[in-house]
Amino acid sequence: MSSGPLKQPEIVTFGCRLNTYESEVMRGHATAAGLNNAVIINTCAVTNEAERQARQAIRKARRDHPDAKIIVTGCAAQTNPDQFQEMTEVDQILGNLEKLEPESFGLEAAERVQVNDIMSATETASHLLEGFEGRARAFLQIQNGCNHRCTFCIIPYGRGNSRSVPLGAIVEQARSLTENGYQEFVLTGVDITAYGEDLPGTPTLGQMCRRLLAAVPDIKRLRLSSLDPVEIDEDLWRLIEKEKRLMPHLHISLQAGDDMVLKRMKRRHLRQDVYDFVEKARSLRPDVVFGADIIAGFPTETDEMAENSRLLLEECDITYAHVFPYSERPGTPAAKMPQVPGNIRKERAATLRAVGEENLARHLNSLVGQKLPVLAENETTGRTETYAPVKFDFTAEPGTIFDVMITGSDGQKLHANLEVAKAL
Ligand code: SF4
Repeated sequence: MSSGPLKQPEIVTFGCRLNTYESEVMRGHATAAGLNNAVIINTCAVTNEAERQARQAIRKARRDHPDAKIIVTGCAAQTNPDQFQEMTEVDQILGNLEKLEPESFGLEAAERVQVNDIMSATETASHLLEGFEGRARAFLQIQNGCNHRCTFCIIPYGRGNSRSVPLGAIVEQARSLTENGYQEFVLTGVDITAYGEDLPGTPTLGQMCRRLLAAVPDIKRLRLSSLDPVEIDEDLWRLIEKEKRLMPHLHISLQAGDDMVLKRMKRRHLRQDVYDFVEKARSLRPDVVFGADIIAGFPTETDEMAENSRLLLEECDITYAHVFPYSERPGTPAAKMPQVPGNIRKERAATLRAVGEENLARHLNSLVGQKLPVLAENETTGRTETYAPVKFDFTAEPGTIFDVMITGSDGQKLHANLEVAKAL
């Protein structure tokens, strides 16, 4: 049912943290242009399911707001604009470069489809954000795009080649967000271990993090998004060991635990590299926990190869397993390889998720009885330094960090009490 014209642009965001960051940039541009009665759908192209959900969101937006301007953008609009062009609900389609330009949000009728060659992008556009609506932690964009061509991945076609944000712009953004009260930051990009390769003096990710933390002492907690396990520089290892503001929670772009599958994926690492990475990180920072992205049922994957992925999750004790059944993306090399039937992909994904659930439950149990600092994500839930989810039995102020006593775990989240922690 229609709820009348919107008083401010509504943004529906799918996919990664970079998209979340870019949604805030668009919110600023649309608001500045006076484009209030509009719904912007910021899509993701990583799986067929993500694209299906975007089309569903477009239809719902039209039903709910018959008079609003509906703008579709993001990776699915960049890689496959035709699917949205056919939808009568859609007023405008913007590519991933165009969505960051203020002119794209003018009130006058612009061209319906504005999607240009993303491969021509060599710089990241600079935007100063004031905050992230409804979020207790801030995302800092440090990089965009990817120079690799993993055989399953459509992302480079949606986001172009790797380009880094200069340190000065990252520091300026972090300072203004800390002034607005943000204490926890997540460094985001598509391939953040490629940071700096295109900048003068080729600073590494570790060097940039060290300088950022020194320049902005008000950053209380820093997290990194996905890391390539064989591309960790020496400065980053030193930070993992010594810098308490770098959170003991590392997310690995793992994808598979079998060497043949990793080769067919064109990854840069092998199975043993992940064991070495995990062992080294634990020896430097004993409280560290790991997350990992992993694909179940990649083309040609046999039962034995799938078992290698399961074993790796178990033996490396990966606490946060982000499991995706393989989804073929048209135009990628893997889509042309012999496919694993869909039901087997789902079964293998369930097996991997079960290992992840056990690992998470074990980590949560190990925290019961401890007094730990948490960041309140909203009034009733928060996260520990190791990103463990916590349910409060009190009301908290979102965005603040304080100590709680962990009183129990239900295997999926912790329970916390404030008074006990205060009394200690
Ligand atoms: S590293 Fe591979 S998976 Fe990641 S964005 Fe680049 S091509 Fe895609």
